[in-house]
Parts: sequence; structure tokens; C-alpha cells
Amino acid sequence: VKKNPGEPEFHQAVREVLESLKPVVEANEEKYRREALLERLVEPERVIMFRVPWVDDNGNVQVNKGYRVQFNSAIGPYKGGLRFHPSVYLGIIKFLGFEQIFKNSLTGLPIGGGKGGSDFDPKGKSDREVMAFCQSFMTELYRHIGADTDVPAGDIGVGAREIGYMFGQYKRIRNAYEGVLTGKGLTYGGSLVRTQATGYGLLYLTEELLKLNGKELAGKTVAVSGAGNVAIYAIEKAYQLGAKPVTCSDSAGWIYDSEGIDLAALKEIKEVKRARLTEYKNYRPNAEYHEGRGVWSVKVDVALPCATQNELQLEDAKQLAANGCFAVCEGANMPTTLEATEYLQENGIIFAPGKAANAGGVATSALEMSQNSERLSWSFEEVDAKLQGIMVNICHNMVDAAKKYGHEGNYVVGANAAGFEKVAEAMLAQGIC
Ligand code: NDP
Repeated sequence: VKKNPGEPEFHQAVREVLESLKPVVEANEEKYRREALLERLVEPERVIMFRVPWVDDNGNVQVNKGYRVQFNSAIGPYKGGLRFHPSVYLGIIKFLGFEQIFKNSLTGLPIGGGKGGSDFDPKGKSDREVMAFCQSFMTELYRHIGADTDVPAGDIGVGAREIGYMFGQYKRIRNAYEGVLTGKGLTYGGSLVRTQATGYGLLYLTEELLKLNGKELAGKTVAVSGAGNVAIYAIEKAYQLGAKPVTCSDSAGWIYDSEGIDLAALKEIKEVKRARLTEYKNYRPNAEYHEGRGVWSVKVDVALPCATQNELQLEDAKQLAANGCFAVCEGANMPTTLEATEYLQENGIIFAPGKAANAGGVATSALEMSQNSERLSWSFEEVDAKLQGIMVNICHNMVDAAKKYGHEGNYVVGANAAGFEKVAEAMLAQGIC
């Protein structure tokens, strides 16, 4: 805390990981201490911060902050998304980059951990303003990234439009057509299934985890928070697997639609019109729109937080448990507070942490990197089958690691231990660096 003042989200992420790694560390204490392994693990290899000046539609110059944290490259080039949101500061990017190390390791693919972004808010900006910002952002970032060095992707506020503008600027400056970003459009090196990957992957893992616990997803009622990329495709796959998602939300309010969320309406509002959820009632007059928080107050069997960090708090966990919810699987990064996580686990609720449950996005990004290197494109079915295989594998590794370290059913321990083992071994093998 003294070394990293004013970064509560980073402290939270590190505390959760290190506490759950105690059984692993105890088994190797002497070696880890000699090599200062944990001290090196929590210190990013490189932090890049820069100015992003751009001109708005009124001709005024705006200035934002840009970040890229290259956290750990022990098992592959840095990989992790870019977040554009006014709440972004160094502590958020460090928490996300730290989590990314273990998530990427869990996928079984050769990708290190990194994350970046800006306090720029794309909401309410014209396409031209977003392009001006993205071009300025990449004009600095390009010198720090590359297909074999660091491959950013999207996150909150960064979708296909933003990736397209940044890819165009990178290509222009570098004069190189390479897979330097993932989440690209299909006409210029993107992968099928990348758009759907995080939401679909979340549901593949959830279904498998419920199965391993003697339960079934089909026929269950599901609460989803968020209305962005992860939430939309979580809802889509939940329907495909026979469940009924009844909620979604944004930062202003939330929807309860007892008949099930109208996916086509949601996609049109968020993906086509880029509008707010208040519009949902125009499509579904019988649905409820509530301002503010409250998405976890609905009676459901399964909860899938897919919006942002710390959105599911202790009171929400109590309400979910009281309503008979039996599983919480995280689509967002660290959406459940530490207290809420502990409450859920102590009350027998199946809890899958984001670094395992939402790893489908980065896994498919790594598949996009493979396709770019081969200069080939795989079919939707091929990528989807690989994604499903990866998620099932992550689920089993997480369950098995929890058992191996004497914490059966504690998937926070399982996911952290399974992700950590490979990174630790690689770091030790590569010497003090
Ligand atoms: P989007 O920008 O597409 O959507 C984010 C959604 O969350 C929006 O509905 C947004 O509402 C809501 N939201 C954002 N901030 C807040 C807040 N402070 N309070 C309440 N709601 C909020 O992002 P994604 O769907 O891509 O990302 C969602 C989460 O999933 C993030 O935690 C991200 O890190 C994580 N994730 C994403 C991956 C991906 O592939 N996209 C991969 C792995 C994890 P509003 O429009 O009002 O801001």
C-alpha cells in the first residue's frame, strides 16, 4: 500500500490473489522468497503514461491521459484490453493488468498480462471526435506495442469502431500490416466469434461448472448486469443454452423483463443506436425500468455481473442468497467486492471469478493472433468450438487446482492457483528479470 498509494482497486486485486495463493506459496516458500517472486509479480515490468491531445467538433483542444501497463511477459507478449472511461486512472489499469496475468495463463495460450486505456469518455462524442482521439492515442502508443511485443484489444468503451481507428493509425505510422490489435473488423484481420467471445465463454464455463456441481443451466432464470459487449452476448448464449435472462443494466438504471430480455431490441438500442436503456420500454411496454442500482434484487437462480468492478456488493450478495440464487459467475472484471465474495462462498453459492469466467474474450483474441500470423481465417464453427474447449478446460483446471490445494469448491483459490503456477515456473526459469 505504501509503494502504491491511492490505488484501492489495485490493492484489492493483489490482496485477493495473494491471500488465495497462500497454500501454493507455503509449498514453495523458501524458493519464492529467495527469488523475490511475489515482489516481482506485483510490480509491472513497465508503466507507460502519456498525454493525448485532440481537437473537438467546436475546434477546441482537449487533453486526456493515456496509459499502458505492461505487467508480465513471462509466458508471452503482453495482452489485454484498452478501456476508455472517465473513471480510468493508473490504479484501475494496474488492477486490470494484474488480473490479466492469471487470466491469460488460465487460457493455456502463450500470452502475458497487460492493460491500458484513457480517461476519455466516448459517450456523446461524434464519430469524428472518437477518431481524432483514437489517432492521437495511437500516435504515442504505437512505439510501445507490436505483434510480438504487446497486442491490445477492446474493453469498456472500446469496441470495433475504436479498434478500427487505432489500427488504421498504427498501420499508417508503422507502414506495417500486422496483428497488433485484436477485436478487429472481419474485413481487416478480425476473427469470427471475437465479438461474442466473452459472453459466450462465460456461459460455456457456467454451464460446465453447474454440471460439475450436479446442477443444470437449462430452464433457469438469470440476472445479467450491464448492456455492453459482454452482457449482450451472455444473454444471447444464455437463451441458446435454454436459460431465461430477465435483467440488464447500464450506469443509469436497470431493466426487469419477466418474460425474458428482448435481445433484438437490446442489440438495436446499444449496438445500432448507441442509446440508453430507457428506450427499452418503447419496445417492451410491459418491462420495468428502474433508475439507479438494484439489478440484484430480482429473484433468480443464477447471477452474471457483466458491467464493471465492485458492482455486486455485500447487500446485493445477501439479497441474491435470500432469493435462492445458487450461482454467481463473473463476466466483468472484479465486479464482486471481497466482502460479497466471502459471503457468497460462506453461504454455499457457487462462485466463479472473472479471471476464469470471462477469459473467453482474451482466449479468442489469442486465436485472432494465430490466424493473423498464419494469414488465414477460421470458420465461425471452428473458433466457437475452440472457445468452448478452452472454457471447459479452464473450468476443470480451476476445480482441480482448488481440490489440489485443499480448498475444494473455492474457485477463487482454484483459478488463482492454476493461473499462477505456470507464470511462477516461467519467471523462475527466466532468472531475475
Ligand atoms: P462495454 O463498454 O461494452 O459495456 C459496459 C457496460 O457496463 C455498459 O452497459 C455500461 O453502462 C456498464 N457500466 C460501465 N461502467 C459502469 C459503472 N461505473 N456503473 C454501472 N455500469 C457501468 O464493456 P464490456 O461489455 O466490454 O465490458 C464489461 C466488463 O467486462 C468490464 O469489466 C470489462 O473489463 C470486462 N471484460 C470485457 C471483455 C471483452 O471482451 N469485452 C473481456 C473480459 C472482461 P454505461 O453505458 O451506462 O456506461
